Amino acid sequence: MRFVIKNMNRVALITGGSRGIGFGVAQCLALEGFDLAICGVRPEEQIGEALQTLRSFGGEVLYCQADVSEAAARERMLQEIRAKYGRLNLLVNNAGVAPTERKDVLEATEASFERLMRINVQGPHFLCQAVANWMIEQQKTQPDFAGCIINVTSISATVASTNRAEYCISKAALSMATKIWAVRLAEFDIPVYEVQPGIIQTDMTAAPAVQAKYDKLIHENGLLLQARWGMPEDVGKAVAMLARGDLPYSTGLVLAVDGGMRVERL
Ligand code: NAP
Repeated sequence: MRFVIKNMNRVALITGGSRGIGFGVAQCLALEGFDLAICGVRPEEQIGEALQTLRSFGGEVLYCQADVSEAAARERMLQEIRAKYGRLNLLVNNAGVAPTERKDVLEATEASFERLMRINVQGPHFLCQAVANWMIEQQKTQPDFAGCIINVTSISATVASTNRAEYCISKAALSMATKIWAVRLAEFDIPVYEVQPGIIQTDMTAAPAVQAKYDKLIHENGLLLQARWGMPEDVGKAVAMLARGDLPYSTGLVLAVDGGMRVERL
């Protein structure tokens, strides 16, 4: 049994892996030789091109249509992964949403707050719980099992934006959840990391007003030390480094992928 497992690819679940940062992460992990499971809310017919690209790396790719904020959908997704692969080595909690409308904190609604907390915090936190239990179970039967969890938060976990407070609060909460899981899973030798992307070019930042704001901050106001938009593969490469095990003595690490945005200057 042990030798068979050694010769199998490791399996990674990337939530929101069909576009944006998650797709960048999925491609980098495919390059590392992982078999993949990705999830999203869109039906599989709509993401054919992304699946084709990911499969072109040579590994297996499973798509699960699952809303991470729904407990039953998370459970069904893990059952689908069990049925196809029988194992899971890496969870990348990447799926997340911004408010549908950026509103000043004096006006922002409870409905938007609740939506973001469910998708950005509750979903990933309880996915950590379910996957952690499965990883602990796998360790008992596979002596060479290696597991790892990576949560994608944001610079917004530490930088306050008053026109999307609920987003910042949700990312700060997921940041704490990452610490909690790093502490709890230490005895099982399962590292848990947090990756904080900065301003990344994806659908989330594609609205013309958002683009114009960040273009100005990046190219005219010197917001970043590295004066360019971040790309999904910038985050993908950081996740791949952690997933490869290149930082084995750093569980709980918070890794910034933000072009040097938060280096204090005078
Ligand atoms: P994006 O382009 O909008 O893509 C979001 C992905 O998450 C999509 O694949 C989407 O699925 C999936 N998703 C959304 N809600 C979901 C749900 N309830 N259940 C399952 N999947 C869901 O966003 P992105 O910019 O790549 O962001 C990815 C992560 O990075 C998010 O957590 C975001 O907060 C974080 N982040 C982004 C930036 C940035 O500048 N872009 C900066 C810092 C942090 P479908 O494709 O099926 O719709």
